[in-house]
Amino acid sequence: MSNPLLEESLLPPFEAIKAEHALAAVQTILERNRTKIASMLADESCRNWAALVAPLDELNDQLEQAWTPVSHLNAVMDSAELRAAYNACLPLLSEYNTELGQSQPLFRAFEALAQGDEAAGYGAAQNKIISNTLRDFRLSGVALADADKKRYAQISKELSNLASRFAEQVLDATQGWTKLITDQKLLSGIPQASLAGMAQAAQAKGEAGYLVTLEFPSYFAVITYCDNALLRQQIHEAYVTRASERGPNAGQWDNSPLITQILALRHEKARLLGFKNYTELSLANKMAESPQQVLDFLQQLAQRSQFSARQEMSELQEFASQHYSVEKLQPWDVGYYSEKLRQHRYAISQDELRPWFPLNQVLQGLFEISRRLFGIEITAVKGPQLWHHDVLFYEVSRDNQVIAQFYLDLFARERKRGGAWMAECRVRRRRSDGSLQLPVAFLTCNFNAPVADAPALLTHNEVTTLFHEFGHGLHHMLTQIEYSGVSGINGVPWDAVELPSQFLENWCWQPESLTQISSHYQTGKPLPQTMLDKLLAAKHFQAGMQMVRQLEFALFDFRIHLHDPAEAPLDVQKILDEVRAQVSVVPVLPDNRFQHGFSHIFSGGYAAGYYSYKWAEVLSADAFARFEEQGIFDTQAAADFLSKILEQGGSQEPLEMFQAFRGRDPDIEALLRHSGLASPQSTV
Ligand code: ZN
Repeated sequence: MSNPLLEESLLPPFEAIKAEHALAAVQTILERNRTKIASMLADESCRNWAALVAPLDELNDQLEQAWTPVSHLNAVMDSAELRAAYNACLPLLSEYNTELGQSQPLFRAFEALAQGDEAAGYGAAQNKIISNTLRDFRLSGVALADADKKRYAQISKELSNLASRFAEQVLDATQGWTKLITDQKLLSGIPQASLAGMAQAAQAKGEAGYLVTLEFPSYFAVITYCDNALLRQQIHEAYVTRASERGPNAGQWDNSPLITQILALRHEKARLLGFKNYTELSLANKMAESPQQVLDFLQQLAQRSQFSARQEMSELQEFASQHYSVEKLQPWDVGYYSEKLRQHRYAISQDELRPWFPLNQVLQGLFEISRRLFGIEITAVKGPQLWHHDVLFYEVSRDNQVIAQFYLDLFARERKRGGAWMAECRVRRRRSDGSLQLPVAFLTCNFNAPVADAPALLTHNEVTTLFHEFGHGLHHMLTQIEYSGVSGINGVPWDAVELPSQFLENWCWQPESLTQISSHYQTGKPLPQTMLDKLLAAKHFQAGMQMVRQLEFALFDFRIHLHDPAEAPLDVQKILDEVRAQVSVVPVLPDNRFQHGFSHIFSGGYAAGYYSYKWAEVLSADAFARFEEQGIFDTQAAADFLSKILEQGGSQEPLEMFQAFRGRDPDIEALLRHSGLASPQSTV
């Protein structure tokens, strides 16, 4: 039986791929790879690039070429058969990856390669691949002595169990509190769409009325819009005490012991690997160089945004007193009166903006901006097999040579996963036969499909999302690197990977580029300056308060992972209280146990890494600042961004690339200015 996933093809044969092909293809490839890797490792002469790294890369690429279309289809064309096939492959892939990551012989082979005579002649990309590989081997514990390795494996297993229990308890606690409201008057202020959701939730339980839950859409609707202060108070108390020893379900799903155990095990793991604490382990594969650098960075942002944050809070208090006679804002009032103030100052809705952003104009404008900046032509092409008739396919060329391709799948539809993302279809690399494999990207969004004969109209948020994903796409497609390990977004530390995407968003906010992406679908006029001004003002609303809130999370995350339990017993609540005293400006419920639901760091991948959000924003804002200084279409700035950052992929340290582009270290000023927080530091 022929299997399209096992046949070589330039682009995936989407029309021929069926669910039953997935498992067979993955099994065949994994078996073949295992045999080939074993014979390579058995042969002692295979300790050079051509006999070890290049063939490994080839094997990995074959696996990717079979798996990528399957995981892509699973995301955009979900079906019961495909989902089952996809899920059947996952454990096989994860087992294979663990096996390679833990392989002692493979680790030794890379060590021999790094110390061999040939290594002196390697280029930057090759060196980076080897050092990344050795680093990842060490971080996976493969270099440890036997007893330590055993303990390492135990810790990893326990940590993964604890993380999933943490998430389960948050989920149980979230679902463990509901409130049925039968009198609609008690919900006044809540938008119709949210009310409909609450009515539906009640109905699903066989009740009449409205079911208020702690699921985010419901919580958000109540805390932001509900006029009933008592209900806001109740939902707030339930929400911020989830999975803790406080609140309406005190002790029922208490994450306190898990937090302590997780932090202790992470510390032990870091020590086993030779780090001082977990923050050092976390930074081992990130751009930030030392824990102190991260702390200084966060402190500096805190210092610079605190004055604005306090001022915004007192403006809010003043507004609530004047217009609503609220003497003292409570924790459950902040969101509600902030929304009132926002409406009062900048009555502008995303829906009002849609007529100015017909999809075709936005795409044309995006491609024109990319042409002016990076000298690339983007053309729609017919021919390749697609998974849905809405999907478009494009070629990217420079000097009449095709250098990359991408699929564009923009509209929401049934059986397509929500959100927006860029994913790799093919990575740029030199094949072992000497030919060049061109990069191909999947760009996926979930915009409203066009209705009747009107064109698809985007909100400004959606335009920004498209630019963001296209920025990731350019990073993937414009790379000049020919080794897949550091080509495009591969090998880029995750606190730096959002640089190109957030960078490109800036062209959605400039009058000069807005004339290219906006054109009223009936009058043909670009977005008026008055609308842009309102949009900008709304963007800066409570920027200081938002900033210190993020800093509170980031500082808390970093400080608890910095703690050495050998020096003093860990008191998580005390650290949170200290951080709050330092940066927070909003009133806090004494029973608030935010940390018990902080899944990002206790069950997600952000441990000692929450700072990354702000870190990447500083990079992208500061990179764009050079365009503000020299012109947003300045040829030299764009050529430098292309050659020093986009084309380099993960082949160099991001700090070095940034320095090469900017001529200096990253500076926080641009981010503060873009957030409207640049007013000189006050003496207050
Ligand atoms: Zn992104």
